[in-house]
Amino acid sequence: MRNHEQHRRRHEDYLASAAWAERKEQALVAARHLCSICDGLADQVHHWRYADDLARNDDPRYQAAICSDCHILIHLVHCLHPDEFHGSDLTRDAWVWRARRVVSEWLRVQREQIEKQIVRSV
Ligand SMILES: [Zn+2]
Ligand SMILES: [Zn+2]
Repeated sequence: MRNHEQHRRRHEDYLASAAWAERKEQALVAARHLCSICDGLADQVHHWRYADDLARNDDPRYQAAICSDCHILIHLVHCLHPDEFHGSDLTRDAWVWRARRVVSEWLRVQREQIEKQIVRSV
């Protein structure tokens, strides 16, 4: 538990560092600022696997450019299905495929709920 707390703090320090700011910018440029999930404007980068020593070993293969809306959704989905995503060594293509699938599933459920409300109110 203590170990986990230390890890979390190092992680936060890393995300606030100049080294990460530079890598994040490189990742966004490499993706031409396109969100890997919806093709919208990406201004954030999501990690699905972190090295133990982030400052030295952070690996761009486990990062994807993402827009802020998809990023929020992806973190919510992680909370619901931690095993399916977290710490996995998925390739970017495999990660994007899964992420798109769960986001489209989430959108489908939202759409069905809205459709039900519309039917009820007609
Ligand atoms: Zn997006
Ligand atoms: Zn993220």
